[in-house]
Amino acid sequence: MANTSDLPAVVIPFYNRDKVIPPEPQEKQTFHARCHCGNVEFDLTIPTAILPLNAYICSCSSCRYTRGALCSLHVALPQTISPEWTNGRINVSVHKSPGSGAGGHGQRLFCPTCGVRVGLFEPRMAQWVVSTSLFRDTTAGPLFWSVTCFGFYKSPRDGGLLSWLPDGVGGKPLHLGTVPYDFPPDEALSIRPDGTEWLCVACFCGGVAFEIPRPAEAVRGDPHMARCVAPPLEKDNDEDKGEGKGKWKWKAYMDFGGDSWALSGAQGMPWVQVPRAVLSPAVPTTLEFGTVKTYKVSSTLTTGFCEYCGARVFLRDEEEGKKEADKGTEVLNVALGLLRAPEGAKAEDWVVWRAGRPEGVEEGKRFDGEFVDAMAEGMRRWGLDRYGEALEFDIV
Ligand SMILES: [Zn+2]
Ligand SMILES: [Zn+2]
Ligand SMILES: [Zn+2]
Repeated sequence: MANTSDLPAVVIPFYNRDKVIPPEPQEKQTFHARCHCGNVEFDLTIPTAILPLNAYICSCSSCRYTRGALCSLHVALPQTISPEWTNGRINVSVHKSPGSGAGGHGQRLFCPTCGVRVGLFEPRMAQWVVSTSLFRDTTAGPLFWSVTCFGFYKSPRDGGLLSWLPDGVGGKPLHLGTVPYDFPPDEALSIRPDGTEWLCVACFCGGVAFEIPRPAEAVRGDPHMARCVAPPLEKDNDEDKGEGKGKWKWKAYMDFGGDSWALSGAQGMPWVQVPRAVLSPAVPTTLEFGTVKTYKVSSTLTTGFCEYCGARVFLRDEEEGKKEADKGTEVLNVALGLLRAPEGAKAEDWVVWRAGRPEGVEEGKRFDGEFVDAMAEGMRRWGLDRYGEALEFDIV
């Protein structure tokens, strides 16, 4: 599938096949990519005439469950352009989805130290596809790419991230694309013998899997743990909301700040706050169990990711963790994209979204102002529609 004339029209902007590189000599611009820890670094040199390239959001289950985010955010490079590895080594982990064929969308590269997504080489298209969140030179976003495409929009079942981008990005509507297949979602709640409902959280490969209960009275009554619980919404109690009526839920938020941006592979992480002590089976204080590997993000933050498929799983504030660990009340940020909620990727029957105040908006706007502005405004409007107000509650 190397020639543009062979391609289905829907994928042409996704792969930037509508961009024609002019003959040499030509003006070029170099962009520097770096994972969070610096193990993976490369440059891309791109003719200025074809900038900005189209970036695409993919919300297929593979992109969500191998990241812990609600999507991936990629730029496909023209066929003649590939990464120039700049730190003297190529040290990446590869995860390949079973049954995904040779390379392609089911094959992903990530940093073995910090877990950050690098991208993939797509052999059918003979193109490199790279994560936009690797480029945190504050001028890169607006020059290098513009988010114009959205793939697999049906896969999240509740609209996923697309429900927060109703007008597209930068005032331009998104070019939607999907194909009739997806990796099958695993979407049943587990019901314990006592009738309680538990929600499965699992990375793509299944090496990390645990369950979250609904916020019990013991959690709601503890002054610290109660901070990650959202009471039933007025709106849900006033009207007949069926399933959602009267339910206590966990607090969820989007974080566009530098660390979450860099760790996500998706220009921002969706987190849900849950006390470590309620998770089942028990998650150790080290966070290391199953295939979880930890990485120290900063002097105060530790993250856990699946060392086999690369999915982000946890982010913990160590100061908060130390204070509360003795009491067993510490609160973890759990990657919301791993929640296997039957109602959809946003897990609305289990979480309440802080739609009125995403974290890290000002910082995220330095990397890609168009995208973060569109997301913040889209979430605010969605919150008004869903909750009757754009909620701004505090988190831990
Ligand atoms: Zn790294
Ligand atoms: Zn995908
Ligand atoms: Zn995994």
